[in-house]
This record gives sequence, structure tokens and C-alpha cells, in this order.
Amino acid sequence: TLSLQGKVAFVQGGSRGIGAAIVKRLARDGAAVAFTYVASADRADAVASEITAVGGKAIAIKADSADAAAVQRAVRQAVNSFGNLDILVNNAGVFTLGSTEELALEDLDRMLAVNVRSVFVASQEAARHMNDGGRIIHIGSTNAERVPFGGAAVYAMSKSALVGLTKGMARDLGPRGITVNNVQPGPVDTEMNPDDGDFAEQLKQLMAIGRYGKDEEIASFVAYLAGPQAGYITGASLSIDGGFSA
Ligand code: NDP
Repeated sequence: TLSLQGKVAFVQGGSRGIGAAIVKRLARDGAAVAFTYVASADRADAVASEITAVGGKAIAIKADSADAAAVQRAVRQAVNSFGNLDILVNNAGVFTLGSTEELALEDLDRMLAVNVRSVFVASQEAARHMNDGGRIIHIGSTNAERVPFGGAAVYAMSKSALVGLTKGMARDLGPRGITVNNVQPGPVDTEMNPDDGDFAEQLKQLMAIGRYGKDEEIASFVAYLAGPQAGYITGASLSIDGGFSA
């Protein structure tokens, strides 16, 4: 039998990039997956259709992660569709480049709302509808550990916030056997950080393994943490970054 057979998963931000790879992998491993998007309706529908076409269960829900009520509604819609949750993955994230002298405060507010506040909001609502032994996985960043270029101070702050949040939430939810972990990718080839983008060559120089990660590699790690073998890992921030932070 598949490792996540009968499990119910909710993924925040699953229409593109790392999130879409996670949605597909969890579904392939047997989970019913509800996931959110904000702008990419067509691509979200395509991800869901790809899963249902081969007999899997998936639904795409429009919910802006910056809107707490929308996130709470989306979690409840997932529960109504598939039953109580076993897995939550908080993947939605935004990165606006801007130096300390230049970054607009609305960009700071947006990064904190999507990268930090939504992670707490979704985790709180999910925890209220989660089976014992569940899994909560945040997608942080290696930039919580190392920021070897300019213009990323607030993004790094937002991802560093998840390190502490993960430890505290692990304490809160541990008595129910729910684990909480923070996966910290290095450069991964997506629209946020394309392998042929302006910074790609510079970033490759900073890694022990001089290439970009693939979204499937991140999804594979998330699937392991979501699975039955990973019940003793909690409160941890775990790098999967080609040695970027080494
Ligand atoms: P992409 O920009 O390629 O995709 C982002 C995904 O998040 C999309 O599905 C998008 O939905 C969704 N999303 C963004 N904002 C919102 C919102 N307000 N409400 C709901 N959904 C939203 O990013 P990546 O796949 O590259 O990144 C995924 C995560 O991994 C992020 O948290 C990022 O910070 C982190 N990360 C990425 C790295 C990289 O090098 N790529 C490195 C380290 C961490 P929609 O399509 O509707 O816009």
C-alpha cells in the first residue's frame, strides 16, 4: 500500500513551483489533497485535473494567504470535502527584492502576511481539525541561515521567524503526536528563482553542489516528513540546499 493512503493533506500555495510538486507527490503517495492558490486559477485546475485523471483526489481552492478568514475557510472546506486533516504543508511564499534603504513598507507587510502570518493562521485552523499523529511542515528557506547577497533582509527575516514558530508549535502540538518541521530549501528552479535568472550563476558558486535543486527533490523530502517513518522528527529546521548554508 502507498505510504500516505487514506491521509488527508492541505497545501497552502499549490498551483506552481515547489507547492505544485508537493501536491502531486502527496497525491501520488495516496493522500487526498486540498490546496490553495491566489492568482493562477488555470494552473491550479490543471494540477487538480492531473491528479483526478489517474484516480487520485484533489481540489483547488482560491484563498489569498494574506487574508486570514479566507485561509480559515479554505481549511474548513478541505475538511468538509475529505475529512479531518493529517498533513498541512505551508508553502505559499513571496519574495520582493529591495535594499534596506529602498524596500517599500507595503512589500514588508505583504512578505510578513504571506510568509509568516498565514503559516500561523493555517496551522491554528488545521490543528483544530487535525487527527492525532498529524504532520505540519512549513517551507522556510536557507536564507534563514545565510544571506550572502543584498536586497533580501526582510525575506530572510520572514523565513527566520519560521524557525522559532516551528519550535514553539512543536511543543504545543507534541502531546497529540503532531510533528511540526520547517524545510529550508536552497535555490530551486521555479518562477520565483529561475535556473537561468539574473542571480543563478552567482548562487551556484555558493553551493557545495553547484546546481539548482528540483521541485521534486523538495517534494520528496516533504513526503518523507509527512509519512509514517518521520514521527520522531519535530521542532526541526532542516536544510535541503545543496550545501548553500554549509
Ligand atoms: P513560486 O513563486 O514559483 O510559487 C509560489 C506558489 O505560492 C504559487 O502556487 C502561488 O500561487 C502561491 N502563493 C503565493 N502567494 C500566495 C498567496 N498570497 N495566497 C495563496 N497562494 C500564494 O515560488 P516557489 O515554488 O519558488 O516557492 C515556494 C516556497 O518555497 C516559498 O515559500 C518560497 O519562499 C520557498 N523557497 C523557494 C526557493 C527557491 O529558490 N525557489 C528557495 C527557498 C525557499 P499563485 O500561482 O496563485 O500565485
